[in-house]
Amino acid sequence: MTKKDMLKLLHNEEPVLRAEITALYSVLDHKLGLHGADVPITFGMDEKALGSYMPPSYDNEEQFQFSLFFIGFCMNDQLTKADRVNLYKHEYAHYMTRHISIPEKYNWQPGVHGSAWKYCCSLIGAIPSDYYIEDASIKKIDYDSVLTRPSVDHKQVQMLDTYRTQKMYSNIENSKVKYEVGDVVTHPKFGEGTVQEIEKQPSSVRLHISFGDEIKIIDQKWLVKTGYKKVAER
Ligand SMILES: [Zn+2]
Repeated sequence: MTKKDMLKLLHNEEPVLRAEITALYSVLDHKLGLHGADVPITFGMDEKALGSYMPPSYDNEEQFQFSLFFIGFCMNDQLTKADRVNLYKHEYAHYMTRHISIPEKYNWQPGVHGSAWKYCCSLIGAIPSDYYIEDASIKKIDYDSVLTRPSVDHKQVQMLDTYRTQKMYSNIENSKVKYEVGDVVTHPKFGEGTVQEIEKQPSSVRLHISFGDEIKIIDQKWLVKTGYKKVAER
């Protein structure tokens, strides 16, 4: 099977996975009086993080994102149902930290995966670990001890998610050069331009593009986002 065929197969699974997640979130919503099932769910092919919850921000709509790379059914080492459910709950707990009031006594540990998040995990039966623990059994979790003192590190098998990872990954993505010197691009306002120089930054790529006699410096991320296409690709 080619990579393209595999991607197609994985994308075909999106409706099934979406239904699985929405059904679970509806049950949790009902229990907690929340609206997590209404938050858009997107799927990516992230190989660095299994999932993420993005709170609403100036740039982005609130959303859940899951990696088909890990949860897709056609992968050989796909997550088990129990692990998938835990992943969905893990992200839902992040959503909860934004939408429920956290009792004062659970604010002692800061951080995205701090005590407030762990408190949310305890309400929905999610494993309060920011790492993916293979074969972790929910029955073994002693929430009382997790919620009252710093946790002892489990054997950390694979990173589940973290905002940091997500951020780092998007920085890596943003710093990948997607254009070449000499590429002709079109701009809605400036018309056709030619890439003259590529400037690599730690988390971005700046393109120097000539439009007639004028050189404009434009962030590649913005170009890609606005569908500012290479002429050859149209
Ligand atoms: Zn997390």
